[in-house]
Amino acid sequence: MNIRSEQEMLSFGREFAKGVTYPYVIELIGDVGAGKTTFVRGLAEGLGVKEQVTSPSFMISKSYALPNGGYLVHYDFYRLPEPGIMQDDLAENLKNPNNIVVIEWGESIAEFLPKEHVKIEIKYTEEGREVTI
Ligand code: ADP
Ligand code: MG
Repeated sequence: MNIRSEQEMLSFGREFAKGVTYPYVIELIGDVGAGKTTFVRGLAEGLGVKEQVTSPSFMISKSYALPNGGYLVHYDFYRLPEPGIMQDDLAENLKNPNNIVVIEWGESIAEFLPKEHVKIEIKYTEEGREVTI
């Protein structure tokens, strides 16, 4: 799927939200600036999150309340070569059946993710971004 603009990425995220079941785990793969966080902004909107989504890069994780009582939990492990205590935080959030967990740069915690999770890969192309699910 080719995504030509930031707006299209936001729409893709909103549309993707319609097919999400609870709990749900998404691993986002793509270079810095590919559009991973932009996708999560659209996803959050589609899931009914009222707050503004910002990049969790400097926070490692951010949680947004969902209408079902669970949370959209957004991780970015880019600056975290060793998961450390975040591993417990992740395990805790993966346990809540009402959560949607989205992970950027998940290599360091790959072994702690459930085997059944969705991978979305975003690649730069001349026309925009090539997205593979
Ligand atoms: P990441 O989280 O992957 O590092 P971000 O979503 O934070 O990336 O940033 C992507 C940047 O690229 C944004 O500034 C966005 O406006 C821009 N952009 C340009 N074209 C696209 C596109 N087709 N899809 C997504 N983002 C795009
Ligand atoms: Mg990001």
